Amino acid sequence: MAGAPRTVLISGCSSGIGLELAVRLALDPQQRYQVVATMRDLGKKGTLEAAAGEALGKTLTVAQLDVCSDESVAQCLSCIQGGEVDVLVNNAGAGLVGPLEGLSIATMQNLFDTNFFGAVRLVKAVLPGMKRRRQGHIVVVSSVMGLQGVVFNEVYAASKFAVEGFFESLAIQLLQFNIFISLVEPGPVATDFEGKLLEQVSRAEFPGTDADTLRYFRDIYLPASRELFRSVGQSPQDVAQAIVKVIGSARPPLRRQTNARYALLTALKAADPSGRLYVRIAHGLLFRWPRLLDLCLQFLACGCARTRVWPR
Ligand code: NAD
Repeated sequence: MAGAPRTVLISGCSSGIGLELAVRLALDPQQRYQVVATMRDLGKKGTLEAAAGEALGKTLTVAQLDVCSDESVAQCLSCIQGGEVDVLVNNAGAGLVGPLEGLSIATMQNLFDTNFFGAVRLVKAVLPGMKRRRQGHIVVVSSVMGLQGVVFNEVYAASKFAVEGFFESLAIQLLQFNIFISLVEPGPVATDFEGKLLEQVSRAEFPGTDADTLRYFRDIYLPASRELFRSVGQSPQDVAQAIVKVIGSARPPLRRQTNARYALLTALKAADPSGRLYVRIAHGLLFRWPRLLDLCLQFLACGCARTRVWPR
């Protein structure tokens, strides 16, 4: 083992990507990490503890942390030995899908509280220590929806665009302190959460939404979205493995897309700075040429179109 293990604090570890990442880092063969795996509700720690196995209590500890609460963040950091976090992984997040007219402003604000202000709150808490020590790495689980908008995901995409703008801006100052920022951008990830979310919204009412929009959402968007997850979705394990590489990298990237099969879609935006190409193709595939959409998804699913991910 080279040097003292780095303390890694991860938010949102009761399920999905956070859980997988916490376990992988804790079981690192070179024991390079001390993992503080946090979650809002400790009543849900059973799955994580079982997956951690012999690492539990050695290279992995479980702690309570609600990213929407200043008190919870302060309490969690006060329990970390030495109070110092070497690597912060902002993973906690939530989704929001549906026609805009049927979503309240309060619901949208709650999403920003978790996805954007939750990450900012944690960074504000660990930054003074990192700056003092002139070292640190802040990893943020963003999304391809932080790079390009997706129909009926306007508010979720906005929260991830906010994350991207905030952390890209901060990265410039922090280089001066030898602190690195990495935005990890998964495409669709097939978690239980996503399946349940799509199931719930397929039955939701969305009051105030006109009949055409509801029909587009239920009969066109939802089936296409399920097919997208089925054909090019990654597993939480795949994404966790990509994050492990980013954390272990000597020269961490600012951006890292995790899904090479999805990258052709994000490349559309890069190919035409006017934005017309992406918006028109996305509109055409969804609303005009459903058979072509099926063919495209089959093509992406077969992996023949693996491209270099953008931005690298
Ligand atoms: P998930 O629901 O399994 O994980 C999200 C975790 O965040 C959950 O454990 C949840 O309890 C936690 N969380 C929510 N609000 C919290 C709060 N206030 N305080 C602390 N924890 C809170 O889903 P996931 O796919 O593993 O999501 C992890 C991250 O990946 C999220 O930031 C999400 O936006 C991002 N992401 C997911 C997908 C996808 O398709 N699933 C795609 C791209 C990016």
